[in-house]
Amino acid sequence: MESARTQTRTRTRALATEAVHAGRDDLAGLGLHVPPIDLSTTYPSADSRAEAARIDAFAATGAEPDGPPVYGRLGNPTVARFETALARLEGTEAAVAFASGMAALSAVLLVRASLGLRHVVAVRPLYGCSDHLLTAGLLGTEVTWTDPAGIAAALRPDTGLVLVESPANPTLAELDLRAVAHACGSVPLLVDNTFATPVLQRPVEHGARLVLHSATKYLGGHGDVLAGVVACDEEFAGRLRQVRFATGGVLHPLAGYLLLRGLATLPVRVRAASQTAAELARRLAADPRVERVHYPGIGGAMIAFETYGDPHAVIGAVRLVTPAVSLGSVDTLIQHPASISHRIVDADDRRGAGVSDRLLRLSVGLEDVDDLWADLDRALG
Ligand SMILES: *Cc1c(COP(=O)(O)O)cnc(C)c1O
Repeated sequence: MESARTQTRTRTRALATEAVHAGRDDLAGLGLHVPPIDLSTTYPSADSRAEAARIDAFAATGAEPDGPPVYGRLGNPTVARFETALARLEGTEAAVAFASGMAALSAVLLVRASLGLRHVVAVRPLYGCSDHLLTAGLLGTEVTWTDPAGIAAALRPDTGLVLVESPANPTLAELDLRAVAHACGSVPLLVDNTFATPVLQRPVEHGARLVLHSATKYLGGHGDVLAGVVACDEEFAGRLRQVRFATGGVLHPLAGYLLLRGLATLPVRVRAASQTAAELARRLAADPRVERVHYPGIGGAMIAFETYGDPHAVIGAVRLVTPAVSLGSVDTLIQHPASISHRIVDADDRRGAGVSDRLLRLSVGLEDVDDLWADLDRALG
């Protein structure tokens, strides 16, 4: 009897294997070991009839052109390697990369709005700028904020998207994604999976249609790339590529290279940092200077906590930990969401979403756990 593993060999490779090999399958045949960085903005062709046909095909479906991309805004071979790899890790047909996480979210909203589906249902908290983009209606969308139990009742005929984060930025609140997906009915569910990464959670397996990453965070992993990506089915990916082509939020090829390199170590980084974070969360929870610790049931390398003392004093006192916004880097970062990452959200909305003025958000990196604890212990005063 032929095993399922033989029938679908490439699909059943373990995540750690895919992380290292996906998007690189053709390299040995090219006589290469590492992916080439293609910096071309344009691609020569003496056959303009063929180019016209490729552009027509792209305009019809958004499918990646066969052969060279014609122009850098249509696609880039180095970026495409990252997209292929991320799609494999998330278990989707395709992925489309953008210049930042916010560019990726904007493209999703524009795809839906272009179909007349301008209404968005969303659950707080979201990353501060995602909240702001929806609340301010900067792209002409209208948002209804609800809790997970209210999603089904909030849907309207013009609802184009349901948007959630789990674990959420910055409170690490977790949602039952399967129940949320069920409540969405036929409306696409977008899960921002930035915090969990596909190492800890693959939202498509729970019924999400779209998975968003600020690739700036764990996927890049070293604090040196700004990027976003949406993993989804090929049909939606085609529309996203068309919006990317027309609005221009493309990812630079060097960023594509760095992201592909980042993916290779993603499982190792996330597991190591998560182990350290779980231990730090335990020590913080046992500490009398700490009022509350938020650490996700699925694990991960993010911790949120509230101290009895002044959170600004903690930020000012760390020496090993970097006091900076962002997350998912090899080094540990701490920030005060009410001052920075969620500052742009109205204070009442922010507090209503559980982001208290004393909440601190810690992104645990790859340092030694005892060195990190020594720094936190001293900074807590
Ligand atoms: C940072 C972040 C974003 C925005 O990504 P950028 O790459 O900064 O544009 C979106 N969602 C979450 C959860 C984030 O942490």
